[in-house]
Amino acid sequence: MGAPWSRFYDRPVEDPPAPLAATLPELLSERARETPGWIATSLDGVDATYGELDARASRFAHALLGLGIGRGDRVALLLPNSPIYPIACYGVLRAGAVVVNVNVMTRGPELARVLAHTGARAIVTLDVFLGAVEAAARGTAVEHLLFHRVAGPGAPAGPGAPGPGDAASGDPAGGPARHAIADLLRASPADPLPLAAGPDDLALLQLTSGTTQAPKVVMLSHRNIVANIGQMIRFRRSPPGDNGAVLCVLPFFHVFGFTVCLHLSVVRGLRMVLVPRFDPTSILPIAELLERSHPVSFPAVPSLWAALLQRGEQIAPALARLPIASSGGAPLPAALQREFGRLAGRPILENYGLSEASSTTHMMPALHPLRPGSVGVPIPDTEARIVDLETGARELAVGEIGELVVRGPQVMQGYWRDEALTAQALRGGWLHTGDLARRDDDGYYYLVDRKDDLVIVSGFNVYPSEVEAVLLRHPAVREAVVMGVADASRGQHLAARVVLREGQSVRPEELHALCTADLLPYKVPRSIRIVDELPRSPTGKPLRRAPG
Ligand code: AMP
Repeated sequence: MGAPWSRFYDRPVEDPPAPLAATLPELLSERARETPGWIATSLDGVDATYGELDARASRFAHALLGLGIGRGDRVALLLPNSPIYPIACYGVLRAGAVVVNVNVMTRGPELARVLAHTGARAIVTLDVFLGAVEAAARGTAVEHLLFHRVAGPGAPAGPGAPGPGDAASGDPAGGPARHAIADLLRASPADPLPLAAGPDDLALLQLTSGTTQAPKVVMLSHRNIVANIGQMIRFRRSPPGDNGAVLCVLPFFHVFGFTVCLHLSVVRGLRMVLVPRFDPTSILPIAELLERSHPVSFPAVPSLWAALLQRGEQIAPALARLPIASSGGAPLPAALQREFGRLAGRPILENYGLSEASSTTHMMPALHPLRPGSVGVPIPDTEARIVDLETGARELAVGEIGELVVRGPQVMQGYWRDEALTAQALRGGWLHTGDLARRDDDGYYYLVDRKDDLVIVSGFNVYPSEVEAVLLRHPAVREAVVMGVADASRGQHLAARVVLREGQSVRPEELHALCTADLLPYKVPRSIRIVDELPRSPTGKPLRRAPG
């Protein structure tokens, strides 16, 4: 017997899938044993099989062990979605070390801070990033810089680019030693390794998106991530993978990309079609891949769906062909959901989760009528409650808005080297998500806003999402963010930034009038500015940042 809402799961609880191996590298070993000839990764016409990925990951692990890096050591990955990512990731894990997932765009003092805070002993990156990475690594614990060559022979030798004979050189000034990954792999055996990490060892240090604050470093064990994959498989009965394609646009360095695009795909034996660059403004290559590769899975976020839908009727057949269309990571605007329904003839299923829960805690049932605006029900083995904002301990009634707290095997071990923050987030095994939500009688949850984004105007609570929804009703408005700005007389007032649809125009006064007609006076933004773009997180989530 499961929770009352388990009747909404796509897969009956009486029919569970086969249990999974206990650690992430074993998932790859099992896949390679079962279907070594299936394609694991595809990029620009170059394929690698699961057998090859498995062998390369073992070589990578042997190379790390040879450099003296092993159990519990942190290895940072600063890589786009490319075939080297899974090799390095499984290699690090096979050596018993811990992956530090770093946004590939991170540079300068921010990168230096991440490296110093996590105590990374090695970093894996591309040759084209070497100069910047090396500069940031100076003065940290990083001893080894492993680089993958992507620059062609004719590429200009940038200040940090490796030169001939530079494959494994230490910096005379005491900087990290450089190693070309191709050379390391060639010199290392592909022999299987004894298990170096157990299920309760750390697998991943994951930086949160930090939409409102500096990123936090989440500690996830092998058990956390494997459990989360198992929960998703127990919720959603997917047709047999049969090496069908999964379009990997979401970056592996983000928790959703890591768990859902990478490891879940390995478990299902999918062919990962890699998209190194996720840029919602240049969607054409992704749209073409979607039309050509007929993916059986396409994990996406709202900004990616929004960009694809700009292609109108042209993209409709590809959308209609997807076995499941799902979205997570950020709120899915109602207008986007409607537009998708119009084009594809069915809804996007919204999921919810966060880094602190290995990616996913809620999923939208596919076999029951969609409940618009909902992120679905808690997945197997996941408990969820809505608690009051004042104490965080009192459970609220159905329909009341409060903080969402969750408990389950996918919940993190804590924040890296931050006991105070950990104690705030984890109380009695319950993860305080920082998200405001409500639930209905059947156990479907509805996200309202981030707790930190709540704006208090003259003592009244305003949920920015409510104001954004009004702005988004104007046909010329493509995106809107609303945020609180310090105000001497009222504590805070609201400021809005909107991005218009291509070729459309509207005056701020008109939007102001729309808000005045639809909202209580204290909820009307004092300033509304039309801008070309909004600042975004790596998954394309618009950030509610102080107006620039
Ligand atoms: P991250 O910091 O990258 O782990 O992002 C997790 C946060 O994204 C959550 O705490 C939510 O605020 C937000 N989020 C994720 N999924 C959804 C969703 N379906 N609807 C609204 N917000 C979401």
